Amino acid sequence: MGKKTVVVALGGNAILQRGQKGTFEEQLANVYHTARQLAEMVLSGQWRIVVTHGNGPQVGNILLQQDAAKEVVPPMPMDACGAQSQGLIGYMIQQSLRNILAEKGRSDIPIATVVTQVLVDKDDPAFQNPTKPVGPFYSEEEARKLQREKGWQVVEDAGRGWRRVVPSPDPKAIVEREAIRMLVENRAIVIASGGGGIPVIEEAGKLKGVEAVIDKDLAGERLAEDVGADVFLILTDVDRVRLNYGKPDERPIDRMTAEEGKRYLAEGHFAKGSMEPKVKAAIRFVEAGGERAVIASLDQAVAALAGEAGTQVVHDA
Ligand code: ADP
Ligand code: MG
Repeated sequence: MGKKTVVVALGGNAILQRGQKGTFEEQLANVYHTARQLAEMVLSGQWRIVVTHGNGPQVGNILLQQDAAKEVVPPMPMDACGAQSQGLIGYMIQQSLRNILAEKGRSDIPIATVVTQVLVDKDDPAFQNPTKPVGPFYSEEEARKLQREKGWQVVEDAGRGWRRVVPSPDPKAIVEREAIRMLVENRAIVIASGGGGIPVIEEAGKLKGVEAVIDKDLAGERLAEDVGADVFLILTDVDRVRLNYGKPDERPIDRMTAEEGKRYLAEGHFAKGSMEPKVKAAIRFVEAGGERAVIASLDQAVAALAGEAGTQVVHDA
C-alpha cells in the first residue's frame, strides 16, 4: 500500500510554551519534543509529512528588535521579518528532525525548509479593516505618533497597551507550490508556509511583499490542497474542538461533518483568530476533496493522525 500524505500545522505551543522567556535553548527544546512525534509518523512507514507552523512570538520579537535597534541597523519591513522567522523556525525543525532520524539510522531522509510566499488579493476586504495585532506594545502617545508618522493603524490590545494592527487577508495561492511538490514527490520532509507564509501581492506581473499576516491554518489548508494531502492535521493546545466553549454546558466534539461544522461556525461557537480559522480551514480541506481534517492537541498527534484522538472533521454522510 502506498504512503499517504499529511500536512501537519503546528501551533504556537509546539515552539514556545506559555510563560517561557523565548530563549533559543527553550525554543529548540520544545521543537525537539515536537519533532519526536513527527519522526514517529515518518518512521511508521505510512506517512509522507509536510510541516507548517505559526510564528507569532518569533516574528513579534524580530519586530521588537527592529524597533529597539533602529538607530544602529536599518529596520526591515514586516515581510522581511516574516522571512527571517521562517528561516529560524525551519532551522530548528530541520535540525531536530535530522538528529532524531539519525538516531534511528535514517539520516538518508531528505529534509528541507522552503521560504514561502503566499499570494493574497490586493483588493481583499481585509486591507480596509486591519484586525491582527503585531509587534511591540506602545503607550497611547507613542502609538498615536507612529500612526501619524508611518500611517500605521493602532488599537488598544486587551488592556495590555497599544499595538499596531495589520490586515489578515485570505491566502489565494502558495507561490512556491511547484517546488514544494517536487520535494515531496522525491520523499523529502518539507517545512513550508511558516507563519502563514510571507504575504505578497501581484502588481503589473511582479510580486511584492505587503505588511499583513495570513492565518497559518488557512495557509496550511492551501498548502495541503497544493500537495494533494490526504489528511490535514492541526495541532494546538486543546485536545478537541468544543461547543459552547467556556460555558457551563461546554461539550467536546469527537467527530463532525463539514456540514455540521458550518452550522456551528454560524452559531458562533469558535473564537475569531484562534479556533474559528482552524474549523474553517478543516471544512475547506474536506470540501476540496481531502479525506479528513483533524484538530487535536500536540501531545496526542500520533493518535489523532490514526483517528483515535482530537476532533475528526469528515465528509457529509
Ligand atoms: P495555535 O497557536 O495553536 O494556533 P490558538 O491560540 O490560535 O493556538 O488557538 C487555540 C485556542 O483556541 C485554544 O487555546 C482555545 O483557548 C481557543 N478556543 C476558542 N474557541 C474554542 C473552542 N470552541 N473550542 C476549543 N478551543 C477554543
Ligand atoms: Mg492560532
